[in-house]
Parts: sequence; C-alpha cells; structure tokens
Amino acid sequence: MAIKVHQVKSSRLSGIDFNNLPFGKICSDHMFEMNYIDGKWQEGEIRPLQNFSIHPANLTLHYGQSIFEGMKASILKDGTPLLFRLDKHVERMNASAERMCMPAVPGDIFCEAIETLVDLDRDWIPPTNGSALYIRPYMFATDEFIGVRPSETYKFVIFTCPVGPYYTKPVSLLAADKYVRATNGGVGEAKTAGNYAASLYPAKEAKEKGYDQVMWMDPFEFKYIQEVGTMNIFFVMAGKVYTPNLNGTILKGITRDSVIHILKDEGYEVIEAPLSKEQILEAHRNGELQEVFGSGTAAVISHVNKIAFGETIINLNSEEFKIGPFLKSYIEGLRSGVREDKFNWTHKVRTLELAV
Ligand SMILES: *Cc1c(COP(=O)(O)O)cnc(C)c1O
Repeated sequence: MAIKVHQVKSSRLSGIDFNNLPFGKICSDHMFEMNYIDGKWQEGEIRPLQNFSIHPANLTLHYGQSIFEGMKASILKDGTPLLFRLDKHVERMNASAERMCMPAVPGDIFCEAIETLVDLDRDWIPPTNGSALYIRPYMFATDEFIGVRPSETYKFVIFTCPVGPYYTKPVSLLAADKYVRATNGGVGEAKTAGNYAASLYPAKEAKEKGYDQVMWMDPFEFKYIQEVGTMNIFFVMAGKVYTPNLNGTILKGITRDSVIHILKDEGYEVIEAPLSKEQILEAHRNGELQEVFGSGTAAVISHVNKIAFGETIINLNSEEFKIGPFLKSYIEGLRSGVREDKFNWTHKVRTLELAV
C-alpha cells in the first residue's frame, strides 16, 4: 500500500548551506504523520513540514507519554540513499512503546514511511563523508483529558534533519554521585522523553563544574558504570574491550551493538559485564587503561579525555587512541558504501512510486 503524499509547492533546499548545518535545527521539506484512533492506526500521510495544533489538556504535556528514535540516512556516490540498521530502530521504538503503554507501529508501515520520506527528500541528504540525514520518528499521546491513565489516541510522526559531520572534541566526564538516570524496574531502557528531562539538572551541574557530560552510575552505591549522557560507554583495558552489560537500566544502543559485533569480528575480546569504578581506577594505576569512548548515532564514537570520580581524576590522551578512531571510520565507511557490509546492516532505499 503506497503512502499518500502531499508534496511541497517549492522546496526550501536552495536556501540551505550544507557546509553549515547546526545539529537538529534545520528540517527537510516533508514529514510523515499517522494517528491512532478507535484502537487502530489510521492511514498515514506525508505532507509539508508543519505545526500541530495542541489542546491545552493534551495528555503528553502533563504526564509525558512520549517516545522517540534517532537514526541516519546517508547517500551513496550513485545517489542511492542508505539506511543503517533500520530493523533495530523499529524494534527498539516498539519496545519503548510497550513500556510506556503505547501501541506498536506495524514494522512494514514504519519502514515504508521512512523509505518514502527519505526517497522524497533524498536531495536533503548531505553527501560529504560523516554527514547524514538524521531521522526522528516519535510518538505521543493525544487524548484531551486530565488524569493519569494511558491515552486512547496517539500521533506517530517522522521528520528529518540534514546534519553535518559531528567533529566532536574529546569529552570530559563527571561520574554521578548524587543523581541517577535509571534504576532497576524503571524506564531507563526506553527512549522516553522524561529520561532526558530528568538528566538536564545533573548535566547543568556537571557543566558548571567544568565537565561536558555526566557518567551515570548505578542508583544504589554509585559504584557501577551505566552510560554517558546519551551514549553507551566502552573502556579498553590491557587490550580487551569492556562495556557495562544490558541490565534494564541502560539504553540498548544500536551503535553499541554495532561496535561489539565489529570488534569481535576483528578478533578483540569484548566483555559485557558490570564495570565498577574501582576496576577502572586500578587499570589506570597499572597503566592498563588505554581508551575510553562513547557510542551513539549522533557522534558515532566520541573520545573521552578526562573522567572525574569525586576528587580522583583520570586523564587520557585521546590522540593515542586506536580502537575508537578505527570504529568511527569503520561505521562511517559502511554508511558511505566504501566498506563492504558483511553484517548486512545497510538498506538501500528504492525509488518509490508516489501516490500523490
Ligand atoms: C539513543 C541513546 C543512546 C545511543 O543509542 P544509539 O542507538 O547508539 O543511537 C545511548 N544512551 C541513551 C540514553 C540514548 O538515549
């Protein structure tokens, strides 16, 4: 079933400078929108990017039933748009939906919507290596009602933003010792709006102390590492790669999963297990702590050059990192098509017949 498309009369693309793309501020021409009413998804539509009109009693605004995803489309030399691990993003969005009492979006409709939207706005995909069209699918409650219960109606939306290469400087991390991101049985695994609202205050305090991001720790002893800001975290110690295991409090990063597969395929030992600050400090004392980096869709890999555990500070020379830069160029190589996709992670977007 083709998705109904209402195209823009004239594209805004000519006014966009691909060499100057502030992350997340510029949206492409079209958006996809689909409503859940009377217990089922209605027919979705693509239309020019436009505002919503929201009732003051909209449930989301009060009680936060809202989830999202973040993924990227790149473009091959021959002009074919490429999606990266689309199936995993669809799966995770629906896992977030279940946790937040929201309806799943049927995978075939989800994929078709993304493909049609990316196909239509393919000229918005910046061609330079490391650039991409960032795709933001999300869903929120639309009942007009004051009271804590699951909404009966929802809106599922996808819009896209061209983004430049994420030239991140190495980041400094402050280990949390007071605030927590997620606890056992909570919603840490869901990409749900409230998790990010809750992180703002601790992140602001960390910035005031001179650190870029908070390193989230377990909620009981502040002893075990969870993740960083909106990235998963990896430590290279004595040639082996360590990352905290997925225990329900950590976001199941798709870049994390890619990193683990690539490293194992390259012959590295990758250990997914609880990782304590003592373990990191001891490796550092013994001269075995070689690299620390975060993984996430936006930056792919972000190198860490400083970690503070209270008064104890670890400094790292990210110029000497080898595995982090290798992973970044590997994943960007898959996205640009210069590296063979042996894991079958990429998906070429077909040119679709538009039902206008
Ligand atoms: C999205 C996100 C990540 C990274 O996930 P990717 O699928 O790799 O982009 C990590 N942590 C948090 C809290 C996130 O929201």
